[in-house]
Amino acid sequence: MERQVADELKGPNRAGVEADTIVAPASGAGPSAVAVIRVSGPRTRAVLEALTGSVPKPRQASLRDIGAPTIDRGLVLWFPAPKSFTGEDMAELQVHGSRAVVAALVEAVLAIDGTRLAEPGEFARRAFENGKLDLTEVEGLADLINAETEAQRRQALAQSEGSLRRLYERWRAELLKAQALMEAGLDFADEADVAVEVDVKANAIVVPLLASIETHLADRSGERLRDGLRIVIAGPPNAGKSSLMNALAKRDVAIVSEEAGTTRDVIEVHLDLGGLPVILADTAGIREGIGQVEAEGVRRALARAEDADLVLWVIDATAPQWTVPRDVEQLGRGFEPVDGDIRRVGCGSRHVVSVLNKIDRAAATAGFDGLAMSAKTGEGLDALILRLQEIAASAMAGAGQTVLTRTRHRQELVSTRDALQRFINHDLIPELKAEELRIAARHLGRLTGLIDVEEVLGAIFAEFCIGK
Ligand code: GDP
Repeated sequence: MERQVADELKGPNRAGVEADTIVAPASGAGPSAVAVIRVSGPRTRAVLEALTGSVPKPRQASLRDIGAPTIDRGLVLWFPAPKSFTGEDMAELQVHGSRAVVAALVEAVLAIDGTRLAEPGEFARRAFENGKLDLTEVEGLADLINAETEAQRRQALAQSEGSLRRLYERWRAELLKAQALMEAGLDFADEADVAVEVDVKANAIVVPLLASIETHLADRSGERLRDGLRIVIAGPPNAGKSSLMNALAKRDVAIVSEEAGTTRDVIEVHLDLGGLPVILADTAGIREGIGQVEAEGVRRALARAEDADLVLWVIDATAPQWTVPRDVEQLGRGFEPVDGDIRRVGCGSRHVVSVLNKIDRAAATAGFDGLAMSAKTGEGLDALILRLQEIAASAMAGAGQTVLTRTRHRQELVSTRDALQRFINHDLIPELKAEELRIAARHLGRLTGLIDVEEVLGAIFAEFCIGK
C-alpha cells in the first residue's frame, strides 16, 4: 500500500522527535469486572518496567502486581512494534474495573516521562498513520463500536476488515493503469495512430470501471443500514399514531390521550426489527378547523417526512370517512399511497403504507384490503411488524455485500464518477483527458486516505471515544 502521505502526517517522528506515549482506559466507564488500560508509544517498555518490574513475553498474558506500591494485580500484555494495533510498542493492562483502580493506574503511567493522556480516537489515528488501517477500515471500526443491531454489526465488521478498502484499491489500480496509458500517449502526441490506440485502450479500462462505480453508487442499502431506516408515523389527529408508536416500541414513549392534538413534539424510538435498525418518529398532532385538519396534518407530516424512508399513514376506522385522503396524493410530491400497500416512488424510493386503526371499534372495514389493526388490542400488529421488516430488509438488501456506508464515500465517488464521465463523453484534448483521470484517482485516493486527507481526519477520529 502506498503510504507517502501517511509518512508526512507523522511529522514529528520524521524530524527525529520521539512521539508521545499515550495512555487511556479502553473499556467503558463505571464499575465492571475488568477494565483495560492501553498504552502506546516509544515509552511503553519503560512504563511496563516501572509498573511491573519487567517486560513480559510478547502477546502472552502474564499475571503481575501492577504499580509500585502495588495498585492492583492483573494481566499484562506486551505488543512490541510493529505487530500491534497502532503499529507502535503497545501494552494492555487488564485490572479490576473500579474507578479508583483505573484512575490510580492512569496516574501512575502519567507520572512517567514522555507520557500523556490519549485524545479521542488517537490509538486508531496512530494505526492509520502507521499504515495498519485505511480510512474506510477506521470508519468501519467506529461503526462496529457503535453498532446497535446484528446487521449493522456484520456490515461494520466487514468494513473494518477491509471490504471497502480492497474494492477501492482495486478501482484505483485500474485507474492508474489507464492514467499510465494516457500519460505515455502524451509523449507521442504527434503520432495520430498512437493517440487513437491509447484512447481505445484507456476507454476499455475506464468504461467498465465507471459502470462498477455507478452500480455501487446506486445502492443506498449500506447507508440505510448504518443510519437506520427512518419511518415517520403520520395521519389525522386522534387516529392513533401515538398508540401505534407505543405498541410498536412496546413501551410508553408518547403520551396517549382522548383529546386530539396531544402529541406535541416529534418523538423518536430506535427499534431493532429482526436485526435491522429502524428509527420510528411520531409526528406532532395538529388541531385545526374541520376540513383543514387533514390538509394541515398532511402538510406537516410530509414536511417532517421529507427525509424519511417510509411514511406510516394511520387512518381512524371509527371516523366518518376513513379513506386515504386525496391530500396525501396531492401533497405527496413523490409519495404515492396505496391502501395497505407500498409503492416505490421517486428518486428517494420512499414508501407510504396506510394502516386502518381501531378495527376493534369499527362496525365495518369493508373496502379496505390493506393492513387493518388495533393499537389497543394488538390485533394486526404482528402483520404490520412483518410488513415493516420486509420493507426494511428490501431497503437494506444489498447490505452485507460491499456497499458504501457514508456520505463521505458517496461524495468522493460522485466526484470520481463525474471525472470519468467527462473522460469518456467529452471531446477533450489528450492533456485534459489525462487530467480527468488524475482528478478521479485523487478522489479515490481520498476515500482510503492515501492522499490529502488532513481535513477529513479530524472529523473521522473525533467519532471515537478516548481509548480507541
Ligand atoms: P394520535 O393523535 O393520532 O396520536 O392518537 P392517539 O394515539 O393519541 O389516540 C387517540 C385516541 O384513540 C386515544 O384515546 C387512544 O386510546 C384511542 N385509540 C388509539 N388506538 C386505538 C385502537 O386501536 N382502538 C381503540 N378503541 N382506541 C384507540
